[in-house]
Amino acid sequence: MADNYPQPLLVDTNALVARSLARAGVDRMFGVVGIPVTGLANRAVAHGIRFIAFHNEQSAGYAASAYGYLTGRPGILLTVSGPGCVHGLAGLSNALANAWPMVLISGSSDQRDVGRGDFQELDQIAAVKPFSKFSVKATNITQIPSCVFQVLDHAGSGRPGGCYLDLPSDVLHQTVTEAEAEKLLIDAEKERKQEGVKIVSNSEIEKAVSLLRKAERPLIVFGKGAAIARAENSLKKLVETTGIPFLPTPMGKGLLPDTHELAATAARSLAIGKCDVALVVGARLNWLLHFGDPPKWSKDVSFILVDICEEEIELRKPCLGLVGDAKEVVEMINKEIKEDPFCLGKSHPWVEAISKKSKENVLKMEAQLAKDVVPFNFLTPMRIIRDAIVGMGSPAPIVVSEGANTMDVGRAVLVQTEPRTRLDAGTWGTMGVGLGYCIAAAVASPDRLVVAVEGDSGFGFSAMEVETLVRYELPVVVIVFNNGGVYGGDRRDPEEITGPYKDDPAPTSFVPGAAYHTLIEAFGGKGYLVGTPEELKSALAESFAARKPAVINVTIDPYAGAESGRLQHKN
Ligand code: ADP
Ligand code: MG
Repeated sequence: MADNYPQPLLVDTNALVARSLARAGVDRMFGVVGIPVTGLANRAVAHGIRFIAFHNEQSAGYAASAYGYLTGRPGILLTVSGPGCVHGLAGLSNALANAWPMVLISGSSDQRDVGRGDFQELDQIAAVKPFSKFSVKATNITQIPSCVFQVLDHAGSGRPGGCYLDLPSDVLHQTVTEAEAEKLLIDAEKERKQEGVKIVSNSEIEKAVSLLRKAERPLIVFGKGAAIARAENSLKKLVETTGIPFLPTPMGKGLLPDTHELAATAARSLAIGKCDVALVVGARLNWLLHFGDPPKWSKDVSFILVDICEEEIELRKPCLGLVGDAKEVVEMINKEIKEDPFCLGKSHPWVEAISKKSKENVLKMEAQLAKDVVPFNFLTPMRIIRDAIVGMGSPAPIVVSEGANTMDVGRAVLVQTEPRTRLDAGTWGTMGVGLGYCIAAAVASPDRLVVAVEGDSGFGFSAMEVETLVRYELPVVVIVFNNGGVYGGDRRDPEEITGPYKDDPAPTSFVPGAAYHTLIEAFGGKGYLVGTPEELKSALAESFAARKPAVINVTIDPYAGAESGRLQHKN
């Protein structure tokens, strides 16, 4: 009977989530499928969203967080319920710590079975609470568009961060008619709103400019908040019109080229130790900047903080806080300076002092780097990698870096000339981010080569994702600094090696000579084992030109290097 009448076209929750995401401009999704979200991944693909399927939600979550940072739009992680959501917390918490926009979407138990020991049951809303800016459970299909837009808008506005959307499996199976779906979407679109950001007043801008103008030793510091705001051109103008030296944080590197004549990177201790006014743009005065405290900073330094987050400014109590988007605030500063321009000039004593110290330090470092040390220390292969990366020109490769020594040496030696081309362990010092970040970078910037320079420990956290690289044919070259462990080798004092398990390998060591390059060969990727400058140069030349997934396993002397200067006292 019913067949005689046209049936209304039905839309299920999976399709409505995918459609809402696509309508909001989401174009990529990272995750691991399974019950109850496989249909959602398939629907997302059908709605034009590229779904990158991982082996582990942890890596996929790191990818989503980095994708959010690189694009300035929330990266999406899709996971199954219970343990999938718990693995996803790694990415969510990483997004929160780094202030990167991300949304975790997890399936969850059927609402009727909650509390009865359902399959993968967990109170996921409670689990995500410490790690999310905002979370919501959709309890009915009619809430879907509104919930999707809310998590995206909270994640991407104000101080970016991770948000969570919970999709119970019973809701995933509900349907509405096509007409109802469209109405729900349109109504929810009308209600979308961004978090309001207080915008700095003109008098505050005038005060900032006056402080900078009167300063004897001004410094401009910028970080990943400036990167996410895409403030590079405004910052370049500010630096070049005023002649004030600048210092990027590790991921701020590249907003202005490291090779810029006003870069104070190689004179960091002098710059932060002696500056009298520091304009800090989108960077927190946390451990990475020694909390802004003496003795690293002068006790008399006046901080001008530019941050989108008012609480951040309240926390740090700077001399002057400018709340707002980094790019907008720096543009306002530029406009104010234009009224009455000033420029320190090359012969200004402060500029000269920074420049002189930088040149001295660079010469010292280059003298170290010039030696070919075999078996490899950290410096020799890092120099060879730096030269190969610089040789790629523009668009510059995105560098992913993690590890202890490998990251520290890499930060000092590798050169960043373009914005948002460095991803590292970040605010949280998160290890295991490497492969996820590589995949995010390759997907976010298809025109760029991605080069990971990782310790063997960092690589091991997510090494199976090399299969993901091969499957999606991503132009990623992973260089593993293989020193046989965390820090490398057995570094215990002889008196520490005692007790019934004294013959076990040291907690810091892995199998010596691990053949990491063969992992990617298992999936059809290219592996290289190198131990000399010639072998490394040839592997880099071949893999960079091929732009295909590769792992270069670099044998490093297990006893070369030591823990980061900033953290040594904690270990
Ligand atoms: P870094 O590690 O480079 O020092 P942080 O992550 O510590 O950077 O600091 C980034 C800061 O930038 C955060 O306090 C965040 O609130 C802020 N931020 C994020 N987006 C913006 C933006 N668009 N404009 C200004 N500040 C921003
Ligand atoms: Mg190691």
